Amino acid sequence: MRFVDLHLHSHFSDGTYRPEELAAQAQRLELAAISLTDHDSVEGCAATGRACEAAGVEFIPGTELTAEQDGDELHLLGYFVDTENPTLLTQIAKFQAVRQNRIREMVARLNGLRVPLSADAVFALANCRAPGRPHVARALVAAGLCGTQDEAFERFLKKNRPAWVPKFKMGGPEAIALIHQAGGVAVLAHPGLNRTDALIPGLVGAGLDGIECYHTKHTPGTVTHYLELAERFHLLATGGSDCHGLNRGKPLMGTVKVPYEHVERLRARAAEIRSAALPHAAA
Ligand SMILES: [Zn+2]
Ligand SMILES: [Zn+2]
Repeated sequence: MRFVDLHLHSHFSDGTYRPEELAAQAQRLELAAISLTDHDSVEGCAATGRACEAAGVEFIPGTELTAEQDGDELHLLGYFVDTENPTLLTQIAKFQAVRQNRIREMVARLNGLRVPLSADAVFALANCRAPGRPHVARALVAAGLCGTQDEAFERFLKKNRPAWVPKFKMGGPEAIALIHQAGGVAVLAHPGLNRTDALIPGLVGAGLDGIECYHTKHTPGTVTHYLELAERFHLLATGGSDCHGLNRGKPLMGTVKVPYEHVERLRARAAEIRSAALPHAAA
């Protein structure tokens, strides 16, 4: 049986691996295919695709967009997106600017709490266009201002803690449309983490293609629950480890066993989305 890992982060968002390391790990773990799904970024896809080709591992370009619905945060994975799609790139650039401004605002709040962190220290550590709270947490630890990243989140960065700053997010249907217009397949990420079940019918109405049923933080019961939901709503099932590299403890890559057949279904769906977008030839 061949397995795949369709949810991975690199240093182009909040992971630690470089594209070459992702490909080498995939080869070592004998994965048949991987996808790179950085937060609000497709920047690492080209290099990871090349590295995977050299390593004999199939590569699926991807991204993980942050959206919001009725006050709940949701993550939407886009598979087989065209990473050169102008609309996708324009929107991603906007989300990245929002992220960078949010870092500046969180640092200003920390400074107001007499925590002497600089935004430049966070940006230098993040070294990517899509910085986020994990980078602020790491910078706080690196500067000796917090003992651990968990402490940084508990004291300052978690929702409603003193340095937390709300983030503008697009709606779920908007994210699905953005992925579709870039030729991609839209999949709701780790629904078991976000408790977004009530939103699923609405997202299906907006064109959602799949649910991430297999995930590191889904128990076997959760996996079964989402496989059943996927069947009920005629959605694809996907899965991955959500590995962030060596960031916090052991790398998770390859620990979630997702059969290769799910890639074939994703590919077929991507082909349908692309052919539906093409203007029909005159009879
Ligand atoms: Zn996520
Ligand atoms: Zn993720």
